[in-house]
Amino acid sequence: MIQYYSTRDPHRAPLSFEDALLKGLAPDGGLYVPDRVPTVDSANWLSARSLPELAVSVLRHWLEPEIPLAELEAILHDALDFPCPLVRLGDDLFVLELFHGPTRSFKDFGARTMARLMQHFLRRRGERRVILVATSGDTGSAVADGFAGQDNIEVVLLYPLGKVSDVQERQLIVRRPGVRALAVRGSFDDCQRMVKEAFVDPELAHLPLSSANSINIGRLLPQALYYLWAAQQLAAEHGLSPQRLNFCVPSGNLGNLTGGVFAALMGQPVQRFLAAHNANHFFPDFLAGKAEAYGFHPTIATVSNAMDVGSPSNFERLLHLLGPERMRAWFWGTTVSDEATLERMRETHRAYGYLACPHTSVGLEAQARYRAETGDRTPLVTLACAHPAKFPEAVSSALGIPAPKDGALEALWQRETQVTTVEPSLQALRQVLLG
Ligand SMILES: *Cc1c(COP(=O)(O)O)cnc(C)c1O
Repeated sequence: MIQYYSTRDPHRAPLSFEDALLKGLAPDGGLYVPDRVPTVDSANWLSARSLPELAVSVLRHWLEPEIPLAELEAILHDALDFPCPLVRLGDDLFVLELFHGPTRSFKDFGARTMARLMQHFLRRRGERRVILVATSGDTGSAVADGFAGQDNIEVVLLYPLGKVSDVQERQLIVRRPGVRALAVRGSFDDCQRMVKEAFVDPELAHLPLSSANSINIGRLLPQALYYLWAAQQLAAEHGLSPQRLNFCVPSGNLGNLTGGVFAALMGQPVQRFLAAHNANHFFPDFLAGKAEAYGFHPTIATVSNAMDVGSPSNFERLLHLLGPERMRAWFWGTTVSDEATLERMRETHRAYGYLACPHTSVGLEAQARYRAETGDRTPLVTLACAHPAKFPEAVSSALGIPAPKDGALEALWQRETQVTTVEPSLQALRQVLLG
C-alpha cells in the first residue's frame, strides 16, 4: 500500500491515502507526498479505450486495496465522464483540450474525482464535512460543481464581490444542492483570511471543517491521467510514437505540472516539460538559477488570472519529489507578458483558426519560444486549460471578433441563483456557518 508523509516531516510518519485526502495539508504545514510512485506498465494507458478506463487501470496501482476495484471503477467512470481530445494544430504541435468538463476548465478533473473519493471514505466512516473555499477563479466553480449533491458534504464558497468576471460569478452563484455562495464585500485576500480564521476559531471547532484547495493529493492524482491519455491518443489517433514527446503546461500554483511529473515517474517518457508562466515569474527564475536570490514575490494581476500566483505552493512538493538538479534537467521555463499572450492568441487564430483562452495562449507562446531557442522538433502537447468562452472580453478584444459561445456557459443564465452578501469578517462567516 502506498503511504503518504509530509514534505516537512523528518521522521516520515506515514498516513493512508484516506487520511492524506481528508487532512489536505499536514499539521506541520507541509504537503503530503507518496512514499513511492508506482511504476506502471505503459500498456495500462496505451491500450486504454477511454479516459475512465485508463484512470481505473492506472489509479488502482495507487489506491488498491484502500479502495476496492469495483468502487474505484464507479467513482472514476462517474467523475471523468466528459471528453478530453488531443487536437492537432500543426505537424508536430498538439493541444490537449482539458475544458470539456461541466465548468469548462481542467479543475473539473481534480475536483470531481476528489469529491467522490472523499464521499467514499466519509460514508464508510459515517462522517460529514463542511468544505470552505475562498476563490477568485476556476477552482470555486469546479469545487462547487464537483461536490454538489454529495450527501455527506456541504460546500461554502467565498468570493470577492465585484472582483470576478460576470461568467465566473454566474458559475459560482447558480443554485446547487449542498452549496452556499457568499459574496464578500472585500478582496480575495479577505476571503482567504476569513477561511483561515474559521479553521482556528474556537467557536467553530465543533464543525467538521475541511478544505479542497489545489495542494490536496486527491486533486493531483487525477491530473496525472490526462498526460497518459495524451500519449495514448498520440499513438492511437495520430500514428506517432508515444515514446517521444514534450508537454507545455500553463502554470500558476504548479499543481498541473506536479500531475505531469507523477505521469513521468509512473513510466511515461517525457523529454521536456515546459513551464509556461505569465508575469508571475518565480518558477522560471528558479529554473534559471535566479530564484534563490529573489524567492517568492507578491502576486501580479494578468489576463491569465487563474495563473496569478507569486508563491506557488506545489513548489515544495516538486522540490521534494525531484530535487533541484532533476528539476532543472526536466523543466524549461519562461514568463509571458499580457501583450505577448494576446499576440499569440491572434497568431494562433490566424495560423490555425484555433481559439485559445488566455492561459492556453501563454502556453502556446512558451512552446514557440522553446522551439525557436532549442530547435527541438519533438511532438509537443500544450495543455488547453480553459474554454475560451470563459474569457469573452479578452478573446473578443484581442481578436476583434464576437465573443465565443458555449452551450453549458450560456445555460447558466437560465438557472436560479443563490448568494448571500456578507461583510469581510470572521463574525459574518460564523453567522452563516452556525445559522
Ligand atoms: C488553475 C489554472 C491554471 C494553473 O494551474 P496550476 O495547477 O495552478 O499550475 C492554468 N489555467 C487555468 C485555466 C486554470 O484554471
